[in-house]
Amino acid sequence: MADVNHGVPRSKMTPAERQVRSQLAQLLSQRPVIRGTLLVRKRKCGKDNCHCARGEGHESLFLVISQNGRAQQFFVPKDWEARVRQWVADYHHVRELLEDISRIYWDKLRQRRD
Ligand SMILES: [Zn+2]
Repeated sequence: MADVNHGVPRSKMTPAERQVRSQLAQLLSQRPVIRGTLLVRKRKCGKDNCHCARGEGHESLFLVISQNGRAQQFFVPKDWEARVRQWVADYHHVRELLEDISRIYWDKLRQRRD
């Protein structure tokens, strides 16, 4: 019977493809991912006696995201910084793995290889 979903059985995948898919499945099943760009901004808190009144300002971290053509910024509290950085890194890792899989199928299409 023809596979109406046009899937590829695991047995027909190369070891390289199976490895990429395993990494991807593991990431997606175990780790949060978040899209966005981290941006450090310096701001003055407004207190006259604070060092920031004369200096560079306090550093704050924001996650900048664009959705439907609109940019939004989310403040990242200090105690969230490590996990948000990890989530962003894992998002990029997922994107890279998807790109790797796509590359395999671009080649298949180009070479008309089943
Ligand atoms: Zn200040």
